[in-house]
Amino acid sequence: MSKFWSRVVHDLQPYVPGEQPRIADLVKLNTNENPFGPSPKVLAAIRAAAEDGLRLYPDPSALDLRQTIARHYGVSAEEVFVGNGSDEVLAHTFQALLKHDLPLLYPDISYSFYPTYSRLYGITAETVPLDADYSISIADYDRPCGAIILPNPNAPTGMALPLSAIETLLRNHPGQPVVIDEAYVDFGAESAVPLTKTYPNLLVVQTFSKSRSLAGLRVGFAIGQRPLIDALERVKDSFNSYPLDRLAQLGAIAAIEDEDWFETCRTQIITNRQMVTQALGERGFDVLPSAANFVFARHAAKSGAEIAAGLREKAVLVRHFNKPRISDHLRITIGTAEECERLIAALDAIL
Ligand SMILES: *Cc1c(COP(=O)(O)O)cnc(C)c1O
Repeated sequence: MSKFWSRVVHDLQPYVPGEQPRIADLVKLNTNENPFGPSPKVLAAIRAAAEDGLRLYPDPSALDLRQTIARHYGVSAEEVFVGNGSDEVLAHTFQALLKHDLPLLYPDISYSFYPTYSRLYGITAETVPLDADYSISIADYDRPCGAIILPNPNAPTGMALPLSAIETLLRNHPGQPVVIDEAYVDFGAESAVPLTKTYPNLLVVQTFSKSRSLAGLRVGFAIGQRPLIDALERVKDSFNSYPLDRLAQLGAIAAIEDEDWFETCRTQIITNRQMVTQALGERGFDVLPSAANFVFARHAAKSGAEIAAGLREKAVLVRHFNKPRISDHLRITIGTAEECERLIAALDAIL
């Protein structure tokens, strides 16, 4: 604390990201990164971008990237907004679309950046409890509200809603913006992007960090009808004209274009997820059904904190949240087959 701080800084409760420690030979399964590197074509595009043009500012509207995303998802470039990671896209969304007189709704167990952004922008929020089985019940959102945001699949549970449930939510709230955060959608859920054609209240947010192996490049995007995208552009152009640098714009284009690489990595992660789910089940864990690149699991006998600490001693890092309802759960990112085997071996040594 300091007398030099503004009032707003005193009141902030910043988000705490998963650790990025420097431990030798670490099995890092704590921040849902993709264990496979990006496509060699992405690296070539980034290298070429670095060798040419860094003297100049990037395209402030990232038009080529927006056109590439638009073609891929069957929308127009005017319906695509891009930002420095989907966290930035979400931050602008909170400010541009989620602050109203009535409260913003999101699940009680969800992405922990939502309460952080709500406090940053002075948004009144109300949490909606997940069911006893940790699923989201759309009927629970039938209450007065100004807007709704949910991840699909949800994080950290990994559980997905079918598109029909998302459509019900959109129909029940024609007067409110509904944001679906699809950070993990490529690992097994249905994207709501096609619904943006029919529902003017829907904004879908995605990221290149997970399924496209580019957490280090910082690229995220949103798709929605023009009035919603226009609101995001107004905030962005009042904040930072150049959120995506030249390397990020060209690297992200190459990532979308290399479909084969994307499919191969994603399929391998889904296969490894089945392997980990089964192995955890055989060792006394209750594993929630995951449509993401992680599993959320609780052991019948040992506490989440104890297992996380034990794994850490064996240089296997997983995420543990010291929060009500989930303090005995572990969120475990799906790694390569070898990393999954090391996880299981470490668990066998602990349990
Ligand atoms: C990882 C994640 C994001 C943010 O990803 P970026 O790296 O900022 O693009 C957004 N929402 C959820 C639910 C996430 O798990």
